[in-house]
Amino acid sequence: MSLVLKNGSVFVENEFKKVDVFIKDGKIEKLTNAEPLHNYKIINIEGKYVIPACIDPHVHIYKGKEDYLSASKAALCGGYTTIFLMPFGNGDSATSPNFYEKKKNFAKDLLIDFSIHAGATAVNQPEIKKFAENGVLTFKIFLPFSSHDFPTPENEYELIDVFKSISSVGGLALIHAENRVAIESFRNKFLMEGKTDPLDFMYSRPVLAEVEAVTNCILFANLTNCPIYFVHISTGTASEIIDYAKKQNQIVFAETCPQYLMLNEEIYKEKGSLARVIPPIREKEEQNKLWNHLIKGTIDTIGTDHCPMPIREKSRNIFYSNNGIPGLETVLPLLLNQVNQNNISFERVIQLMSTNPAKIFGLYPNKGIIRVGSQADLCVIDLNKSATITIDELYTKGEFTLYEGFKVKGVPIMTLFKGEVMMENGFPGEIKIIKNKGEFLQIKFEHDMLVKQ
Ligand SMILES: [Zn+2]
Repeated sequence: MSLVLKNGSVFVENEFKKVDVFIKDGKIEKLTNAEPLHNYKIINIEGKYVIPACIDPHVHIYKGKEDYLSASKAALCGGYTTIFLMPFGNGDSATSPNFYEKKKNFAKDLLIDFSIHAGATAVNQPEIKKFAENGVLTFKIFLPFSSHDFPTPENEYELIDVFKSISSVGGLALIHAENRVAIESFRNKFLMEGKTDPLDFMYSRPVLAEVEAVTNCILFANLTNCPIYFVHISTGTASEIIDYAKKQNQIVFAETCPQYLMLNEEIYKEKGSLARVIPPIREKEEQNKLWNHLIKGTIDTIGTDHCPMPIREKSRNIFYSNNGIPGLETVLPLLLNQVNQNNISFERVIQLMSTNPAKIFGLYPNKGIIRVGSQADLCVIDLNKSATITIDELYTKGEFTLYEGFKVKGVPIMTLFKGEVMMENGFPGEIKIIKNKGEFLQIKFEHDMLVKQ
């Protein structure tokens, strides 16, 4: 089917232009103000904005807690058409059989495009080569303990070996950066002393545990020539070290998550152990510093770390509760609200949510940009529409949102995937399931494409 998005402001070549978007066979056919032929369906979007659809580099889907369909609907309502699944969630995917099993399952049920990050552990280095031969080039490394199936590098010598393996296949290391010895020791000390308030959890994973791990990884990634990407950077202080490394021209990317931007220590008083995520949500001072780095370009992407968990698994003593909160549907409205408050530019939001992840993960210019020939994955934004976030209206199977009752102005009202309207009347939106056209995306890197902002 052919259609035209008419009378909107379209993000083309880094600015908004009054131009109509002609879509044919799933791709952007023309950007012009010429009158469409009679066989084009016309969608009038006067007063609205068109941006490239969002790409989430960081999603977890655990069976029973979210399914592929609910995650797809949540993603479409949040303006996403592409998600990257983390190794955890329904099998660890640190070994190729697990990985391919997972790929098969996702491909069956996800409504949108996806890829899967493989895992790099202290023991799976022969697998890294095999993954790379099959076009899988992104490898998650946990520095803190994660699970017995997923052994973390025990020391810096092992970390160097893992970086070497990833570097040798032309891959990208994705790192959860917190110093393991520090957080385990602080945890034990806090538990011994009976300090188990929700806020104690934040103190038990200190800012310096992230700063140390970030510094350490940058150092050894430099030694081994390994490109690195820090997932969920939670502190402004660690961002300063990343800024330093970028200035030395090292290939270092940084992702943060909405919870570190929108929330601070107050949330522990309000939501208690429900607010458990790792790294923890930080104090206001770190939140402010992180915002500065978000604006100035140290932070490259925003990942949601979407990971719904039932309330009963989050209601124990915070030290024994599960990690994870839902995030796919709420991040774009929360950011657009900040655009309306003049705290961040609309252009920067588009870079963080779409263009930069497309460039870093090798999907550009098929995604991440509105250009003739690119896949017609688009999101239509109404900057004047207001909404109140409530879990009752979200598609995720998550049972709560930390943003309950938040009022936002600026929402995604329509998402197109491969040229078809999959979500409309947002926010939260109605899902039009057309047909499963989601595909597994093979990664190809061109790191020099990432223009430094
Ligand atoms: Zn995660």
